[in-house]
Order: sequence, then structure tokens, then C-alpha cells
Amino acid sequence: MLRTPLLAAARSPRTRALVEQLPPTRALVQRFVAGDTLDQAVAVTDELVGAGRRISLDHLGEDTSDADQAAATATAYERLLAALRETGLAERAEVSVKLSAVGQSLARDGERIALDNARRICEAAAVAGTTVTLDMEDHTTTDSTLGIARELRADFPWLGVVLQAYLHRTEADCADLAGAGSRVRLCKGAYQEPASVAHQAKAEVDRAYVRCLKTLMQGEGYPMVASHDPRLIRIAGQLAQWQERKADTFEYQMLYGIRPEEQQRLVDTGATMRIYLPYGGEWYGYFMRRLAERPANLAFFLRALATR
Ligand code: FAD
Repeated sequence: MLRTPLLAAARSPRTRALVEQLPPTRALVQRFVAGDTLDQAVAVTDELVGAGRRISLDHLGEDTSDADQAAATATAYERLLAALRETGLAERAEVSVKLSAVGQSLARDGERIALDNARRICEAAAVAGTTVTLDMEDHTTTDSTLGIARELRADFPWLGVVLQAYLHRTEADCADLAGAGSRVRLCKGAYQEPASVAHQAKAEVDRAYVRCLKTLMQGEGYPMVASHDPRLIRIAGQLAQWQERKADTFEYQMLYGIRPEEQQRLVDTGATMRIYLPYGGEWYGYFMRRLAERPANLAFFLRALATR
């Protein structure tokens, strides 16, 4: 019931100004975000790698409003990748990129600007010896994102993409992208989407997730199982077993700060476990989507407000 207004608030500049000023916001944000700076992001990465996790770092930012800002985001990723190389963390840490943060939503030449900036990031990742995964945003960007991924994969065949199980189109996209060499992160989907393009009921989304996962696990690519859902994690393990997949031919992924005990349990079984680790000052949209996913997070936030 609260999901719709929270996801609408995630896109509202007025609510953003209000939420950013609320005193308890910082404490809760810290649960999901590594910090504002590159140094903080590298320190948290180092700690998590030491605890057996792989990492995908996200420099926070979305809906960039001009080309200079988009280029600055690409530069921030270049610095991050250089730091991962220098600290020896690149072997276990990659980056995730939202194309809207590197220009995709700009009215003029948005796609070309995003492609050029994403190419810069891929080049820096190649030098560092790691990989890049393109996040997926709302459904109006899916074709554009998959098109840009296709172009980049010609030069960077290790580039990963995200597919969202809630979209009706995704079963077909999984079949297209289940071939050798492809890296696909399968998630449920975090945006407010109309019934014309996306399943609405949780049970339907979960069933679609399993169908998509079956296709990816039966394929020759590298499936990345991005979910905290205990049932889906169990099914993923069974599907991998049926396909006789070894631990280094697929991976589990979870968001930083969510179900850390389950992350550890999977590490202890010998599974590959990657943590999506956001950092930077532009945390608002990311934070609101996490609140929308789980009423308990919102309740915690409101309780902290009320007790001040
Ligand atoms: P749910 O049914 O939402 O949750 C299952 C259980 O997990 C819950 O009962 C709870 O115990 C726990 N849980 C889930 N969410 C939270 C939370 N916020 N706080 C605390 N506990 C929680 N979405 C996109 O649209 N595009 C992307 O590019 C994208 N990238 C992602 C990358 C990774 C690594 C992950 C893990 C998710 C990503 N998502 C992305 C978000 C995803 O689409 C879902 O919105 C999110 O993962 C919640 O779905 P779930 O599969 O965990 O299942």
C-alpha cells in the first residue's frame, strides 16, 4: 500500500529536500550506503572482501540533467576503478552503472552521451582487470539500455546487464541473453510499473523470476541471482545443482545492509556472493526504493523521527 507513494516520492524534488534534512535520515542511510566518499567506499569494500564477499560498487546518481554532470560521473567511475586497481581489490570488486547517471535521459543526444561515457568506464575497468554491470531502470529505458549493452559487448564481452523479472518481456530477454559469455543479473524489479508492461502481484513476479532463472541456469552464460527472497535463493541453489553448475559458474547478489547473516551463510557454503555497494552523496532515490521494498524499514525510520 505504501510502495506507490514511496516510489513517487523517490522522484519528487520537494520530498527529497524534506527527507534529506530529517535528523534520523543519516543513520538509516548509513545502513544501505558505504559513505559519501571514494575512500569510505574503498574501506568498506576492503572489509567485505576480507570477509569473503565479491563487490559491485555503484557511484550513486541518477537522472543527470546535463552533459557535464554525466561526464563527471564517468570520471568518478574512472577514479574508483583506478583505486580498485591500486589497492588490489579489482580482482574481487567490479562496478555497477546506471545509464541515466551518465546521460541516457538527456533530451539531446542522451543515448550517444551515455554510450560514450559507459565506454570510458568499460575501458577503465578493462585496464583495472575487472567488469562492469549496467543496472536497469524503469521500463521506458529497457530497449535503450539493452541496445547500448549490445554495442559495448562487441568490445567488452564481459559486460553484464540486469533483467527485471516483473516485466512481461523479460522471459524472452533471458532466452536472448542466455548464451555463452553473457552475464545477466536477474532481479525482481524496483520501479512502479503499469500492468500493461509488468506483473503486479508478488506471487506472479516470483513465478516469473523462477521461469527466467530456469532459462538462465539452463543456458551457457553466467547467471547472477540478485534477491534476498529465501524461497528464490533455495530454488536457485536447486536449479544450479540440477544443471551441475559449479560455484564459479553463477553467483548470488544482495544489497549492502540487507540480510547480512544470509550473505554469510552462502559464503560459508562455498557459494560466490556479491554485495551491491552504493556510495556517494546522491543517495536519495536509492534510499527511497529500499524503504518502498520493506515496510519495516519505513517503520524504523518513522519511529526514529517520533522519538526525537
Ligand atoms: P522481496 O520479496 O522484496 O524481499 C524478500 C525478503 O528480503 C524480504 O522479506 C526481506 O526479508 C528482505 N528484503 C528485501 N528488500 C529489503 C529491504 N529493502 N530492506 C530490508 N530487507 C529487505 N532493481 C532494479 O529495478 N534494477 C536494478 O538494476 C537492480 N539491481 C539490483 C542489484 C542487486 C544486487 C539486488 C539484490 C537488487 C537489485 N534491484 C534492482 C532491486 C530488486 O529489483 C528488488 O527491488 C529488491 O532486491 C527486493 O526484491 P527481493 O528479490 O529481495 O525480494
